[in-house]
Amino acid sequence: MSQFDHPAFHRIPPWVKAKLSPTAIEKIKKVYDFVETECIPAEPIMDAEIAVEGKRWTTQPLMHELRGKAKSAGLFNLFLPNHFPESPGLTNLEYACCCELMGRVYWAQQTMNCHAPETGNIELLAKYCTPEQKEKWLKPLLEGTASSAYSMTEPDRASSDATQIACRITREGNEYVINGRKLYGNCMWNSENKFFILMGCSDPTNPNKWARHSTVIVPTNTPGITQVRNLTIMGYDHAPEGHGEYLYENVRVPVENIILGEGRAFEIAQGRLGPGRIHHCMRLIGQCERAYELALIRCIDARKTPRGRLIGEFDSNIERIAQMRLDIDQARLVVLNAADTMDVHGNKAGRYAIAQSKILIPNMATRIIDECMQLYGGQGLTQHTPLPKMWTYARFVRIADGPDSAHRHQVGRDELKTAKKYAERHKEYQRRYKALAEKRGEKYETFWGTAPEI
Ligand SMILES: Cc1cc2nc3c(=O)[nH]c(=O)nc-3n(C[C@H](O)[C@H](O)[C@H](O)COP(=O)(O)OP(=O)(O)OC[C@H]3O[C@@H](n4cnc5c(N)ncnc54)[C@H](O)[C@@H]3O)c2cc1C
Repeated sequence: MSQFDHPAFHRIPPWVKAKLSPTAIEKIKKVYDFVETECIPAEPIMDAEIAVEGKRWTTQPLMHELRGKAKSAGLFNLFLPNHFPESPGLTNLEYACCCELMGRVYWAQQTMNCHAPETGNIELLAKYCTPEQKEKWLKPLLEGTASSAYSMTEPDRASSDATQIACRITREGNEYVINGRKLYGNCMWNSENKFFILMGCSDPTNPNKWARHSTVIVPTNTPGITQVRNLTIMGYDHAPEGHGEYLYENVRVPVENIILGEGRAFEIAQGRLGPGRIHHCMRLIGQCERAYELALIRCIDARKTPRGRLIGEFDSNIERIAQMRLDIDQARLVVLNAADTMDVHGNKAGRYAIAQSKILIPNMATRIIDECMQLYGGQGLTQHTPLPKMWTYARFVRIADGPDSAHRHQVGRDELKTAKKYAERHKEYQRRYKALAEKRGEKYETFWGTAPEI
């Protein structure tokens, strides 16, 4: 019997299996078993525990219980790439396989301390903080005894272009004073949220626009921070973590809370996001697999027989099912390729592959989950199934961590930079054709009028 006979490896392509270390094989199996036996059956209980009066913004007791189990099973912080001393040793590719399995339940990532924004924040703190800062801020996140928020986006600013971030950070003696408004970042009504990693403008007149911003750590209990409201995402409040809208009024933090130094925010923001985008994409593939399974079950449900036939007996639905299968499998290859590119060539070289995943996968996932709701019928749009929540997740990933349009823009601009090279190549084809035509005594013409004259 092969070690890959375990159902965890059912969808993992052979070229990926060939790259998995023994540790990764073990972790992938364990993640699969944990999600199937501990998380999926617990979904209704997790919902019920925050529906209790007065408990909306309190992390569920069951979440704490499952986090304890995941930690003792060695399933904590699997995301941290293996070049960090704190890493459990998985490559991006290996972790991507775990991520798909975690994605089968929206909150399973949190049981394993592998959830956004913690993953990005932990990576940021591990990469850029001093040993003292790591001890104070990183350690509790790695141990899972605190949570944090990332605070960059602002209302009425194009935050996808972070040079426009306006929240002011001003130095006064040994303190930074912060004034501004922020959108998003986990809700501080949940008392486990202990600090914000905030990006603000510290040097607005610096001629170098990439050096105007800084990143500081702001404890949530600092006077002057008001959470104006919790933002709902298409009607969901995402309790008990939520998304806050914040007002900062003369919020003071000690200068030692700055990360890396004044004017270094862009360096930090660049380093933060690459792998996180891949994690969202792999989890979305896990959500799609789950939605697809629900649709398949509906297709053979003997209680549903429009015009006397099972839903899965209509040719149009057989085709739909096939197309969904093809789309999900295709999407997985795109993301695994991005993860492998990061491992082999580094995050910077993986920029295109990351953008490709970020553009393709949430779009694919919204289409697939939409089709699954359609096959399910009216019930598929209600709380009887997790499908509407799944669709909302896929939809918001088109914007969270940067809108896909901005990635398309970047890909398109990079592609256009290659046009000159192709024009040169076409001139060379034409030169060769001209030489060939002369040698053979044939008439020479330009290629369909498209190539520039030589
Ligand atoms: C569920 C969720 C969670 C989030 N969590 C956080 C968080 O924890 N912390 C945080 O700081 N932020 C968070 N965000 C905010 C998110 O990062 C921003 O919304 C995102 O970066 C875009 O910024 P913006 O909303 O200001 O859009 P803008 O920058 O104003 O862009 C608006 C639209 O303009 C278009 N556009 C922008 N750039 C281009 C381009 N280059 N080419 C073509 N069109 C373009 C796109 O259609 C884009 O959607 C979250 C968002 C969501 C939905």
